[in-house]
Amino acid sequence: MSSNLTFKVGGVHMDEHKGLSESSPIQRLPEPKVVYIPMSQHIGAPCTPTVQKGDRVLMGQTVGTSDAFISSDVHASVSGTVLEIKKMYTADGRFCDCVVIENDGMNEAQTPNPISNYDSLPVDDFVDFTKKMGLVGMGGAGFPLHAKLKGQVPLDECIINGAECEPYLTCDHRIMLEKTAEILEGLKIFANFYNPNVSYMAIEENKPDAIKRMNEVIAATPRFKNLKVVSCQTKYPQGDSKRLSEAVVGRIVPQNGVTNDVGVFLTNVGTTLAFYEAVVEGKSSYERVITVSGAGIKEPKNLLVKVGTPVQDIIDFAGGLNDNAVEIVCGGPMTGKSVFDMQSPITKTTSGLLALSAEEMQLEDESPCIRCSRCVDHCPAHINPTTINSAILKEDVEYCAELHADQCMECGICSFVCPAKRTLAPSVKLAKREIKMQAMKAKN
Ligand code: SF4
Ligand code: SF4
Repeated sequence: MSSNLTFKVGGVHMDEHKGLSESSPIQRLPEPKVVYIPMSQHIGAPCTPTVQKGDRVLMGQTVGTSDAFISSDVHASVSGTVLEIKKMYTADGRFCDCVVIENDGMNEAQTPNPISNYDSLPVDDFVDFTKKMGLVGMGGAGFPLHAKLKGQVPLDECIINGAECEPYLTCDHRIMLEKTAEILEGLKIFANFYNPNVSYMAIEENKPDAIKRMNEVIAATPRFKNLKVVSCQTKYPQGDSKRLSEAVVGRIVPQNGVTNDVGVFLTNVGTTLAFYEAVVEGKSSYERVITVSGAGIKEPKNLLVKVGTPVQDIIDFAGGLNDNAVEIVCGGPMTGKSVFDMQSPITKTTSGLLALSAEEMQLEDESPCIRCSRCVDHCPAHINPTTINSAILKEDVEYCAELHADQCMECGICSFVCPAKRTLAPSVKLAKREIKMQAMKAKN
């Protein structure tokens, strides 16, 4: 087994905080009374609702769709009645139409629609199916899976991302332990498309039980003999797709590129499980496992939650907040977004809800840069956060572009390592947005 794999430039070793929830087996969250199904749970065009007030819907039924290629259908996560369609914020801060469904508690599901001969079909036969089943990258970005299945260049390497490098999050770890065979079957289907000789399951070394379990199931299942577990160094952001492509198969993704551009199909472990459930069980994507953790939550857990469930329901089931909780974060602490409405719903891309204390947030005042270069040394995108920070403070967007601020992957490392506590990551993100705006203005 290949081990200790990693990328070369930047990255950081940090406190993992995974002990809070990693040994908690997945529990199902009790049925929410009402769900709010967001029409935008992915990168790309939002969906348009296909139901209206008063309609009765079944669990798994399509409630939103779009003809745009970069989009993915959305589905009801409960059976019940559509109360209304209204605009609201999701837990990760998107503002979009949501189909509000009152749950009748019957879990009446629509007839499953699996692909029975999936082992012998080409990838083309899965593209439309995958879009309709609502499969998107569940690691955070929400890139529609069907748009990844075929590349401009032939794809000849296949990697499943089980790194889960963000602190606190343990939901991928738990599904690798509890849904091992299903994930490997999903990888096997992908391997049929891309590389039947050797396809990879990549896991960070801080999850030795998951590595062991994966290897055991592969050894016991002859049809998995060409699947290979590789272990990667525990280092943030090992789970970033470009860094993982470099670590596992040595292919470096060019600036502005994606892993498909270098012939690598790479997707998250949760997405692979959802793909298996869609293809083999005919289940659309309407629920997922999330981690609820942080010093500010009473009972850290891993929960199977229906998409559209309000944050408050989830926090309540985890025992509620401790007095020291100062912030609720949707996602991991490095790339997550602050939750500002406890009624906002979780989406397919919500990997966790963290209730963080002031100590965990490291809330300290900014002080002047001491030119230590730590932010530059640790930046995985190989750019200069402190110079970009100065340039954007002077509103010099042109210079920010020269400094390649648009290559920032928004990992948050520069802010994390800065001893002067400068708000580097948000300012580089702002510079990136301004560069994009200027490019759009120049086009029009
Ligand atoms: S947030 Fe951007 S600038 Fe900062 S370390 Fe990450 S990639 Fe580099
Ligand atoms: S890490 Fe902070 S103090 Fe050090 S060079 Fe970067 S901005 Fe300056």
